[in-house]
Amino acid sequence: MKIVRISGFAVKYTVRNGGFRLSGGRKFTEFPSLILRIDTDEGISGWGEHASSAQYMVALHSGAIGALSEIGPELIGADPRQLKVIHNIMDRAVKGHQYAKTAVDIACWDIAGKAAGLPIADLLGGIQQKEFPMLKMAVMDEPEIMAASCLKLADEGFRTVQIKIGNDWRADVERVEACLEVAPKLDRLVVDANANYMPHEALSLLNALGPRDFILEQPCRTLEDNLSVRRRITQPMVLDESLDSIDAVFRAHKEDGFDLAMLKLSRFGGILPLSLVRDCCVAWNRPVTIEDMAGGGIIAAASAHLAASTPASHLAAGSFCTAYVEQTYTLGDWPQGAIGRLPSDNPGLGIDVDLEALGEPIFIYE
Ligand SMILES: [Mg+2]
Repeated sequence: MKIVRISGFAVKYTVRNGGFRLSGGRKFTEFPSLILRIDTDEGISGWGEHASSAQYMVALHSGAIGALSEIGPELIGADPRQLKVIHNIMDRAVKGHQYAKTAVDIACWDIAGKAAGLPIADLLGGIQQKEFPMLKMAVMDEPEIMAASCLKLADEGFRTVQIKIGNDWRADVERVEACLEVAPKLDRLVVDANANYMPHEALSLLNALGPRDFILEQPCRTLEDNLSVRRRITQPMVLDESLDSIDAVFRAHKEDGFDLAMLKLSRFGGILPLSLVRDCCVAWNRPVTIEDMAGGGIIAAASAHLAASTPASHLAAGSFCTAYVEQTYTLGDWPQGAIGRLPSDNPGLGIDVDLEALGEPIFIYE
């Protein structure tokens, strides 16, 4: 089987409810996405996606298009089922730019699954859970509004709720206090500062709150600063932004830097590298949440296959960004509630793309 054509489609997502706020004064109202279609000489096609917000990730929409202009021609003639060879070709063509490689990786897994007649989760070792718990976020707002959001999510059945803080530690004390009222209805309240505190600010917040029952996520930017906080607190810690490469995950584990890991497909280059990281975290007894920064039904499906193939004991939650945006660019409904599942039992990703919504390709390599 050979790749004969790679087509790229530029689409846009609109964030529901007027936007998404998190630390550092960041607010997302819309973001661009690159959807890839890879065609083979045997008539099987696969779909991949990379969606970015440059305010959040080291990733740029125009950077993905540029990286694909170097990578795309090199992939023509390669066998998409040979995922490690595909990654070698991409790494020879372009250093880094894992977010762009993610779209290629997902499309090749889609083809490999369709060729084998199996869902991707089966290729990843098997479906360990058909349904899995989802995480949902309460975005940064006034304390009583955030507490009301937490209560609504708890009533909808969410067991893990993540709240966004990280602008001003004194104001954040009130946010966390308000949301802690709802914590007894949850398994986990995760307090995410999205890397915006200095260590002294994170410690001031935690000292003001005392030894309360929540999980702290990525208070500071660097691993060193997060370790500095972690050594002086009792709460478990999630790392997210710091886990941006296989090397970074191993180093963070070696330094005992995290109890749980937030893993995002686009940081690592797709399903192949993320499944390696996921399996290591499982072996280390560090439960994972499988998430992507942004995107629609294609990247949510890829995340769902990783979540479904993770042992239930070691999957903290799944998290689909389809819960926060208007569009999916796939046909059929995506689960928005507390329970996640694969989109279908069909082979590959198990999705059908909404071709009409995509429009014309912005590039074709063949
Ligand atoms: Mg986070």
